[in-house]
Amino acid sequence: MNPPYGPVLASIAAEVAPLRGTGAVASYIPELALVPPDRFGMHLRTVEGEDHAVGQSDERFSVQSIAKVFALALAVSLEGETIFRRVGVEPSGTSFNSLVQLEVEKGIPRNPLINAGAMVVCDILLDRLAEPRADLLRFVRRLAGREDVAFNERVAASERENGFRNVALANFLRSFDNLRHDPAEVLDLYFHLCAVEMSCRELATAFLLFANHGTVPATGERVLTQSQTKRLNAVMQTCGFYDEAGEFSFTVGLPGKSGVGGGIVALHPSRYAVAVWSPRLNAKGNSVMGMKALELLTTKLGLSIF
Ligand code: GLU
Repeated sequence: MNPPYGPVLASIAAEVAPLRGTGAVASYIPELALVPPDRFGMHLRTVEGEDHAVGQSDERFSVQSIAKVFALALAVSLEGETIFRRVGVEPSGTSFNSLVQLEVEKGIPRNPLINAGAMVVCDILLDRLAEPRADLLRFVRRLAGREDVAFNERVAASERENGFRNVALANFLRSFDNLRHDPAEVLDLYFHLCAVEMSCRELATAFLLFANHGTVPATGERVLTQSQTKRLNAVMQTCGFYDEAGEFSFTVGLPGKSGVGGGIVALHPSRYAVAVWSPRLNAKGNSVMGMKALELLTTKLGLSIF
């Protein structure tokens, strides 16, 4: 018997409501600043396929860094764990776009969920995929079970026009020989990756792969081995929340990933995946209402992985 997820989500929505208006929408990517700031949606899907939702859970938003997990999963499924020779698995302890750390560590990004790490993953995908953008999108669609998941080209263009620091990171990686492709090509895939739009329902569905030990529950298709899935969940647990991964483990206790679009996805192995979206962010770049909602979820259910 599953816990009463529906009533729990309803009570969470009521309890986080007073936080509406707290925090600021990301504005360093101008296109993201246009989003209505006071949205809140949450969708939980169990591995058995039971759905529970509150708020604007079917509205699509820019998933941003959450998509780095999709790129990583695809790269690991194609290349195995040799990718971890080119990118580490340690929490960064610095901002997600730090140049200093990359310099000190000679071009090996700390982990695949910071920007430099995701660029190395994109470089690997450029080696492996015949049509990198289209193939990446096909992969995300397969996990989400939706054929119309797409890139928002305006967001990708806005990132390209304003991503001076990301351009610096890519060139830096190349100078250390940790990119094989032209930095501009890597950045094009990276900016598109970040510009994928999905709803909470679609994200929760896609992340069930990680709750279901590497198999898509709806189709039975195996994408990752059990061991690969365990490793990706470990990377999410330790590196998925910018410089707040410790805080997320401490208060929520689930592996997951956040993005500056205000989305957060988390999962409980063998049980469920849950996505929450609210665009206003705290100082560390995580959704204010999203963090609170997930803390309340594991508290009310009395269940975390710890
Ligand atoms: N596209 C964003 C950047 O590279 C990703 C930010 C994020 O969600 O962490 O700055």
